[in-house]
Amino acid sequence: MKIILVVGGAGYIGSHAVKMLLANGYQVVTLDNLSGGYRDAVVGGDFILGDISDPSCLKNLFNNYNFAGVMHFASFIQVGESIENPGKYYQNNVAGTLNLLDIMVAHQVKNFIFSSTAAIFGEPQYIPIDEQHAKQPINPYGLSKLMIEQILADYEHAYGLKSICLRYFNAAGADPEGQLGERHSPETHLIPLVLQVASGKREFISVFGQDYDTPDGTCIRDYIHINDLCQAHLLALEKLLAGANSNAYNLGNGEGFSVNHVIEIAKQVTGKIIPVKLAKRRVGDPARLVANSKQAQIELNWRPKYTDLVKIITHAWQWEIRY
Ligand code: UDP
Repeated sequence: MKIILVVGGAGYIGSHAVKMLLANGYQVVTLDNLSGGYRDAVVGGDFILGDISDPSCLKNLFNNYNFAGVMHFASFIQVGESIENPGKYYQNNVAGTLNLLDIMVAHQVKNFIFSSTAAIFGEPQYIPIDEQHAKQPINPYGLSKLMIEQILADYEHAYGLKSICLRYFNAAGADPEGQLGERHSPETHLIPLVLQVASGKREFISVFGQDYDTPDGTCIRDYIHINDLCQAHLLALEKLLAGANSNAYNLGNGEGFSVNHVIEIAKQVTGKIIPVKLAKRRVGDPARLVANSKQAQIELNWRPKYTDLVKIITHAWQWEIRY
């Protein structure tokens, strides 16, 4: 059985990936500092409480297991916070990841799946965004991810470490079996916030900006189901294990939905009233972000299953009312 290290496996995306790896016959070890994740979200495998900033923790871990590959989800993800406190982002997302890469090199663990982001592209020059699009991040979060993508190219050249970088557009939804879901604290993402309003945990949803250059004036995003996202990780891992070269893929559905449209669908799915308050634009929000994921479909043989936003929001709602 191949052993896969999942760093950040107690978080939203990582916990769904752990479940999928286990279901596909891998032995899984999760490393998580529980700063944003939950121990009970790790549904199986071994759990190590620890931090990528701690070289001795990484050393022990790599001495104890013979990993076939590493998936790295552990990063800070809030754009606004990254502008106010860039040090936090560069320390964890860059310096911490470097510690992880260096221990992989020391132990000759060659296969690395990296959680990257649409934020590496900055303000879109065209839509949908393909892999060739210019990479000019406009905030420290996006830059921290791009730095690692660039470092990975050097690490492959010098040390033979192979990687696949997966650039997420808007990860959304929840485990179709209802076991896992999104639990950020504080929650900043649109769909869980809208559903928290529907379930009565919040009074209203703020719509950030109504004067964007889009048909209804609100921002357009490409929402991708968490299980489809994790499926791409699995396929990417299998490709590396089979000897493929390093690569990077954009992951989305290729279809954009405005903030108002998301709220409308949430009303339909939940049957609840969702009060809305108009608010100012959020700093650093491009008007539209939509992925071109053809390369992932062709090269990874990736076939997203839950492309319908109604389905995505239905799964998120199942989790919201259970949790
Ligand atoms: N958004 C909003 N109100 C909220 C949270 C988000 O209007 O309370 C908007 C946000 O400005 C963006 C979209 O919803 O246009 C998706 O934001 P989210 O934070 O979910 O993901 P991001 O696109 O920032 O990765």
